[in-house]
Amino acid sequence: MEIVILAVVIAVVALGAISGLVVSSRKKKQLPPAPPSSPSVTAPPAEPHVGEEAEPPSAEPRRTVEEVELPAAEAPAAEAAPEAPAAPAEPEAPAAPAVEVPEPTAGRLVRLRTRLSRSQNSLGKGLLTLLSREHLDEDTWEEIEDTLLTADVGVAPTQELVERLRERVKVLGTRTPEELRTLLREELLTLIGTDADRTVHTEPGVGVNGEEKPGVVMVVGVNGTGKTTTTGKLARVLVADGKSVVLGAADTFRAAAADQLQTWGERVGARTVRGPEGGDPASIAFDAVKEGIAENADVVLIDTAGRLHTKTGLMDELGKVKRVVEKHGSVDEVLLVLDATTGQNGLVQARVFGEVVNITGIVLTKLDGTAKGGIVVAVQRELGVPVKLVGLGEGADDLAPFEPEAFVDALIGD
Ligand code: GDP
Repeated sequence: MEIVILAVVIAVVALGAISGLVVSSRKKKQLPPAPPSSPSVTAPPAEPHVGEEAEPPSAEPRRTVEEVELPAAEAPAAEAAPEAPAAPAEPEAPAAPAVEVPEPTAGRLVRLRTRLSRSQNSLGKGLLTLLSREHLDEDTWEEIEDTLLTADVGVAPTQELVERLRERVKVLGTRTPEELRTLLREELLTLIGTDADRTVHTEPGVGVNGEEKPGVVMVVGVNGTGKTTTTGKLARVLVADGKSVVLGAADTFRAAAADQLQTWGERVGARTVRGPEGGDPASIAFDAVKEGIAENADVVLIDTAGRLHTKTGLMDELGKVKRVVEKHGSVDEVLLVLDATTGQNGLVQARVFGEVVNITGIVLTKLDGTAKGGIVVAVQRELGVPVKLVGLGEGADDLAPFEPEAFVDALIGD
């Protein structure tokens, strides 16, 4: 009997021990989930400081599993939720587009000169060859005239130039190639003008409410001339010169224009204000300047619509955009973009735009693709406004401040 009782007692004790083991092993199985979430809650993994490695290991390992991990196992449940929203913030940072550093603008025209010479020096070299003839008879002078007219210099400026050349060549008598080059250089520079203010005015001013207002530039021109591209390139020029820029995508009629402009802006970290497709250009332009004031930006560039087929509508609209923007304060520049390859057509455009808005500067695009550089002279005459910038290619930094000397040197070669 006693043996039976003893056996029962042993069995009970043994069972108890076994169940205890099971429970404790279950406990251990429940613990492992803690460690993965623990790093954000527990002390951060000791940062390995060079030369300090000996200390942290001696302090850390002494913490028992219960001391460190049990509170952690409970805490993450409560803290996981608030932490979750933080997670989406991380992917955003790498997604931000890398901001490019545009080329400096000083001397750009000199750097891009080969683009000009390739297409233009038929004008300069042609003139030099003709002027070098031993006998400058009437036929030769006619050829000189034709060369200038073919390069789109325009009738009146051509006649003026030929007149001056005739006089000076007569005075000179025998001519060395070097003398001829100097003479032609001087006369072409006189024709283009070296005194005009070719600065693109973007200085901040005072708004209607007395607040500081960014410089405001409107970019106008017919579709296809390179207006949006030029606005984007100009943003880069300004950023390269250390200015902050806001873009206004007020060409709401050409489907891709706003996207195109925004892409240009993103590349240099400039914000683009845009509205719905077909929306009111004037209100976008207004909002862009408002944003520029709020952001304390240096310059606001406004790209405008340029549909020539609805000339009256377009012109009314441009006038309206300007008037609406002026509710904030002055528009500092109105740049007319002209495609240099369009010759006479470009001059007609210049005239039409000039009647509606007060053009303050001309941007001649695509000068890399034409030998008709004489348009610089003709268009300045037409509008009485200087060429301020020239487009010399499709590359992002292929827009250069116009410098008469560099331009003429490219025409006639060194
Ligand atoms: P928009 O309709 O006037 O806004 O014209 P875009 O800005 O879309 O430009 C029309 C085309 O002209 C694009 O393919 C531009 O890359 C191109 N373009 C603009 N400026 C120049 C330039 O200076 N040289 C050359 N070769 N192409 C240019």
